[in-house]
Amino acid sequence: MLIKLHQLTNVPAAMPDESPTSWLSRAALHQGVGITEFLRFLGVRYFSGGDLDLEFVDWFGQHLASLPALAGLRAAVHMAGFARRAGSSSVLRPLYERAGTRTLPFSRFCAPCLHDATTLYFPVHWRFDEWRYCPAHDCLLEDACPNCSIPARLPVGLFSKQGAGGRHISLAHCRSCGASLMNLPPVTLRQAKQVGLLDEDVQILVAVQGLIGNLARTGHSCTDLDWATGVVGTHGTSRFSRIKMICVNEARRRLGVWRDHQQRFPFPVAMPMSLPSSTSE
Ligand SMILES: [Zn+2]
Ligand SMILES: [Zn+2]
Repeated sequence: MLIKLHQLTNVPAAMPDESPTSWLSRAALHQGVGITEFLRFLGVRYFSGGDLDLEFVDWFGQHLASLPALAGLRAAVHMAGFARRAGSSSVLRPLYERAGTRTLPFSRFCAPCLHDATTLYFPVHWRFDEWRYCPAHDCLLEDACPNCSIPARLPVGLFSKQGAGGRHISLAHCRSCGASLMNLPPVTLRQAKQVGLLDEDVQILVAVQGLIGNLARTGHSCTDLDWATGVVGTHGTSRFSRIKMICVNEARRRLGVWRDHQQRFPFPVAMPMSLPSSTSE
């Protein structure tokens, strides 16, 4: 696969902590092809529903250093490697949703991160269940598209993908309905605490994400699964389970800015529903 990449020009550098599927989506767009065609060129056998963010470790792993442009994917190697070894009983579990009879990987996302980005990409951290808030914006991550309620799934073939009105979509648009993912006002941790999130919950969140962040940066702890079970043990399984119950839209409902009957158009009235015009992008 790396040999194949060396044959290409115009391969985008991976952004810091970028998820493999985010990079694959951007790389395919840079080559002007769909995601399936790009993966086929690389020799990657991909079936819909497979988890490329984890399988990616098998393709690159320790060979990343031979392609400096992909150094940004190191966090993904560290995190995916750990998650695969630790298994589903530990922390750092990849996110999957049930869609009909299938189980599909998805990402949470931070709307302000997407809004502020000069290069749109998804950090690999957003793929994991225990990464619940954005340290840069102090807000809860979003679970799904605010318009159609379908979670963000990557990779996506951006070259041919079109949203509402025939406009091309970016990684900051829902691949299912084309709505923007970046204009939703976030729920800050302070707001979440007003409607039920406890100080201890936040402390656990911060501690767990600190450990995950360290693993992502350094790769350390990969050989020591005790840290993960240690986190659960120290804080108690039930306390830790509370973190998994956090629901950003439930927080919105309690804050009075999200109503069930608004499901189709759940933005507060002042929020724009339309996609950015192609001329302004
Ligand atoms: Zn953010
Ligand atoms: Zn959508």
